Amino acid sequence: MSSQQHVGYCFKEHKKVTIKNPTYQITQNNRPAVSGTCPNDGGKIFRLISPDDPNIPAEIKKKLLAAKEASARKKEAAAKKGKAT
Ligand SMILES: [Zn+2]
Repeated sequence: MSSQQHVGYCFKEHKKVTIKNPTYQITQNNRPAVSGTCPNDGGKIFRLISPDDPNIPAEIKKKLLAAKEASARKKEAAAKKGKAT
């Protein structure tokens, strides 16, 4: 089922490898990312991916969208506050 492949940079080998056991997550900056391990040496690999990446699970996409809307609302609220004064 999980045939998604992501290439990341292995800092141990100083080369690009296919990320093993990729896990999708959202960074503190609301950017989607993939973390996994190097198939050759088991080193940790982390890489940011495009929000448009078709491999991103729906669950993560939903969270991304929610975070985006939340930050948009925050901005809007801040703008209104600024105007009100
Ligand atoms: Zn490696």
